[in-house]
Amino acid sequence: MSSLEGSAAFVAAPGFRTPRTPTVSVVIPCYNEAQNITALFERLLPVLDAMPVAWEVVCVNDGSRDDTLARLMEVHHQRPQVKVVDLSRNFGKEAALSAGLAHARGDAIIPMDADLQHPPELLPELVARWQEGYDVVIAVRHARVGQSLRHRVMARAFYWAFDRMSEVPLPREAGDFRLMDRKVVDIVNRMPERTRFMKGIFAWVGFRQTSIRYEQGDRAGGKTTWNFLRLLRFSLDGLTAFSVFPLRVWGLIGGLISLFAFVYIVIRLLRTAIFGIDVPGYESIIVTVLFLGGIQLLTLGIIGDYLGRVFNEVKGRPLYIVRSAHGLDSPDVDPIAAADAAAVRAAE
Ligand code: UDP
Ligand code: MG
Repeated sequence: MSSLEGSAAFVAAPGFRTPRTPTVSVVIPCYNEAQNITALFERLLPVLDAMPVAWEVVCVNDGSRDDTLARLMEVHHQRPQVKVVDLSRNFGKEAALSAGLAHARGDAIIPMDADLQHPPELLPELVARWQEGYDVVIAVRHARVGQSLRHRVMARAFYWAFDRMSEVPLPREAGDFRLMDRKVVDIVNRMPERTRFMKGIFAWVGFRQTSIRYEQGDRAGGKTTWNFLRLLRFSLDGLTAFSVFPLRVWGLIGGLISLFAFVYIVIRLLRTAIFGIDVPGYESIIVTVLFLGGIQLLTLGIIGDYLGRVFNEVKGRPLYIVRSAHGLDSPDVDPIAAADAAAVRAAE
């Protein structure tokens, strides 16, 4: 929405947004979702067809090892508005989502999961709120039904730590299911970082946000790829991508230890001056050495972790590689495809 829309020229038409039919892109990352694709489109397409908007669906096949691509292509051939981006291997959900956002052309973009945990019936409500003037409409889960206690405890701990360490508040129970205006997605697309903690990135860009609630069910079929270790890694990625607190806190701890050490040194010196030298204490020495050695190694490890991330960013490798795109006539959005096409032309 341009700033003009608040001006007198546009006041005459309340609810007026753009002179043409608004276009909506639904972006779906798919990894080994063959069992869900048919059911997903059976529910999704009627909802989209009933909405007073022009729409497209951008499915990203994230290197699935099952028939996901074949299923998607079947749908694409029946309904060309369903477009397919096929990545060269499994790049992970965050990269697949980035690929989808880069290829989507709509005025509003809605990422959702392929496993029907995000009910398509919610789309009209998301779009309605967007047309009221919000730039981001977040679909917030009612409750974490069907999730293990360990998962819930971890999520709690993660949000607690994230809130304390980072300057962007992360909305609770909000996943990637949301609607974003074109201008928000353009900014997300321009963000070059490789550690793509999308939840954090979405929160970081800001804009006028609102939320609606929904009930999230279990996966329709197949199983989630998020095991404990992957979740832990994901959480650590999120924390270090949005906070330098873990790097800084050691300065504070070091300062406290030095202060304590200084006081202790003064006490020992006075004691020695007054009472003479006492029997040397093996325990106190070994405990101090081990404690400080441990802290130093831990700190070094944390610095190493950040350094590794800096290294990854500096290499500047692409986030994903597109093997083929179907129904998408915009190779220019994908620097690799564009470079490949140029190389092929040069070779001919
Ligand atoms: N996904 C993906 N690449 C991956 C893992 C998952 O594109 O490496 C997709 C998956 O197909 C699904 C979405 O990301 O559409 C969410 O995955 P999942 O349901 O496993 O996660 P959860 O719902 O447990 O967060
Ligand atoms: Mg899921």
